[in-house]
Amino acid sequence: MAKEIKLLGVTIDDRLTFNTHIKNVCRKAIAVHQQLCRAAKVSWGLNPEVIKIIYVAVIEPIVLYAASVWAPAASKLGIIKQLRVLQRGIAQKMCKAYRTVSLNSALLLAGILPLDLRIREVALLYEAKKGVAQELLGDREMERMASALDSPHPAARVDLEIGRVMDQEQIDASANSEIKIYTDGSKIEGRVGAAVSIWIGNTETRTLKLALANFCTVYQAELLAICRATKEIRRSTAESFGIYSDSMAALQTVKNHGCLHPLAVETRDNLKAISRQAKIVNLYWIKAHAGIEGNERADALAKEAAINSKKKPDYDLCPVSFVKRHARMVTLDEWNHRYNTGQTASITKMFFPDAVAAYRTIRKVGMNAIRTQIMTGHGGFSEYLNRFKCKENPSCICDPNTLETVPHILLDCPIFAQERYTIECELDTRIQKDKIGEIIKGRNRIKFLEYCENLANKTIKRNKNTV
Ligand SMILES: [Zn+2]
Repeated sequence: MAKEIKLLGVTIDDRLTFNTHIKNVCRKAIAVHQQLCRAAKVSWGLNPEVIKIIYVAVIEPIVLYAASVWAPAASKLGIIKQLRVLQRGIAQKMCKAYRTVSLNSALLLAGILPLDLRIREVALLYEAKKGVAQELLGDREMERMASALDSPHPAARVDLEIGRVMDQEQIDASANSEIKIYTDGSKIEGRVGAAVSIWIGNTETRTLKLALANFCTVYQAELLAICRATKEIRRSTAESFGIYSDSMAALQTVKNHGCLHPLAVETRDNLKAISRQAKIVNLYWIKAHAGIEGNERADALAKEAAINSKKKPDYDLCPVSFVKRHARMVTLDEWNHRYNTGQTASITKMFFPDAVAAYRTIRKVGMNAIRTQIMTGHGGFSEYLNRFKCKENPSCICDPNTLETVPHILLDCPIFAQERYTIECELDTRIQKDKIGEIIKGRNRIKFLEYCENLANKTIKRNKNTV
């Protein structure tokens, strides 16, 4: 009898665990990683940016495939261990770190998140889209994409064009539509509103103010306004209409039949019904804040709708982006907790005391081999060289009783007093352990890193000559 079956790329074994699946997935990812290793060494080869692209586009998807099915298995210790081994090697390559660097340091400097947490995040997102992640959504209902099966046959589609209007003059010149409808959406003070302003000639004849739930996006508001505009047109007895929106994203969503956003689908249904009524509708993108009267009006109404609304929202489906952001926050929190309570990465913590902030700044820092040596302490410094039996003496040449570590070199070593004095004057701060985190976050980062690199290079060179 077969010990396991493979179903749509997921291996299930005879004890109904996903252990074999995860083992296979890791093996596959490691194979890619090994290819990568041949092309990426600490001092030469693929640069970290390229490795990161390969990781995000190839390795992570291999592991995350169908994660929603087997995610609960990823919290088993044995499986977490396998994932850690896999990710540590890759993260080290990504930041050009020595092979002795800890997982936490390597992950932080590579700017990637622990795989087991990513697996949980992907699974959560999948469940939320299916509407089962009660814990995350609370009493909110998820905005679900329409089914492609329900969309009209390509032959039955109404082709849509989007005109462009840059100012009031062009609107007046293109006065071929009887009724002009301006739509807008707005987010202000954390609240969301949308509005429709209907004009005949130079007179506004009717307005609609719509409120959306606070977690909704401006994009949803823009779409809602366009959708309501088409609903108004269905009811109207006039024959030609123009819909004017300043959101190209929303207009494109309506135009693109492949987009299954529920509001876009409803809008297209309305437009189809309108064309059966032998009415003409033109869609226009208008430049925002270009002094177009109708647009200014819709903008003001949308803001009013957002701020003043006390009624139940007209639209309150939760966008996928909200769930994504929420799931990411949960991941970052857990990651930060792990990083801070972990025994490893003590020198990395001096530069990045907070993993959440680091995840955001690390891209701006721009990692390279020397910076990684400084931020991990794993490099050509006597204390490290001695620890790994490459040098007999772990102490600095300034004092036989002081270990030559990164903090010593940067903060205390008298040999570099001159350099330290110069940079302290330049940055107008003392170079102290508890100040480094702030410096790295701020705009003096580059100057400070230059100082670190200068000292590290001198130290490493000195050690090379004495080994
Ligand atoms: Zn010293």
